[in-house]
Amino acid sequence: MKAIQVIKPFEVAIVDVMKPEISDGHDVLIRVTSGGICGSDVGIYNGSNSLATYPRIIGHEFGGFVQEIGKDVSSVKIGDRVAINPVVSCGKCYACSIGHSNVCSTLEVIGVHRDGGFSEFVKVPEGNVHRFSTDFEETLLGLVEPFSIGMQVNNRAQITKGDKVLIMGAGPIGMTILQVAKSRGAAVMVSDIVSERLVRALAMGADAIVDISTEDVQNRVLQFTNGEGMPVVVDTACLPKTFEQSIALASPAGRVVVIGLKSAPSAIAMADITKKELTIIGSRLNLNCFETVIESFEKGSLHPEQLTTSQYPFEQIQEALNDLVAHPERELKVVLTF
Ligand code: MN
Repeated sequence: MKAIQVIKPFEVAIVDVMKPEISDGHDVLIRVTSGGICGSDVGIYNGSNSLATYPRIIGHEFGGFVQEIGKDVSSVKIGDRVAINPVVSCGKCYACSIGHSNVCSTLEVIGVHRDGGFSEFVKVPEGNVHRFSTDFEETLLGLVEPFSIGMQVNNRAQITKGDKVLIMGAGPIGMTILQVAKSRGAAVMVSDIVSERLVRALAMGADAIVDISTEDVQNRVLQFTNGEGMPVVVDTACLPKTFEQSIALASPAGRVVVIGLKSAPSAIAMADITKKELTIIGSRLNLNCFETVIESFEKGSLHPEQLTTSQYPFEQIQEALNDLVAHPERELKVVLTF
């Protein structure tokens, strides 16, 4: 079978590898139909993802049909449409023991720490497989994962009806956070430097947009909140500077959510946190979000089709990566079809 392998930084190829075989009673073999290219896949490709090792079959946003099941599998059957949660945890460490398996001390992500789903077939543990109950569009099955990130951020920040939220960054993840926050009845402001992305944010329901290349975000936040500052700030730009800005833009008693994996430090004064009694929240991957995201896709309260801007057959991974990197004004989620 064919798979997409990053051999080393800046070298990606379609390789022939052995089709996986069921070996454990709880194994599920998936025939992949679609995958979303993530910024972290680009990071593995260009060598900037600190978690990556090479060579690696990439892809952590993928879904498809159940092709074969181990003898002990009971939650899915052959032919089911499914999405795969890429988070693999031990179940025994402290984080797992208190219900935070998404930050397991020996966490592995399928497609990052181990070979992933950009492959014609992939074998995964039953517990990572989540089924659709309708004939949902098969090119969108791979988009449950990015929406699970958006849902996790909303869960972590306890975003609810009536909340005011600033999302810094209108990239794919910013958009999933926006869609989930709007589905919960929050009022959402989105900032970015790419005006085309801000137009898309408006189309997805943003209540206000801020082009930070021409506008002062602090003024806009104060207008939007009657001078109080923003109750919830989510930094999806993930730069040392934007983390500092999030702290400044948050209201007293506000929550600030960070999702970045960069190790460069920010300069933040403790007084700025103490005086406003801010809650600073990390949000990583997802915890039990797959079923809710799938239900929301099926009932139409979340819209993965609005995130998809291009589709490429998987053999054209090089063109797809080039397109994604070169055209942030045009692309949000580039979907590979298998
Ligand atoms: Mn992703």
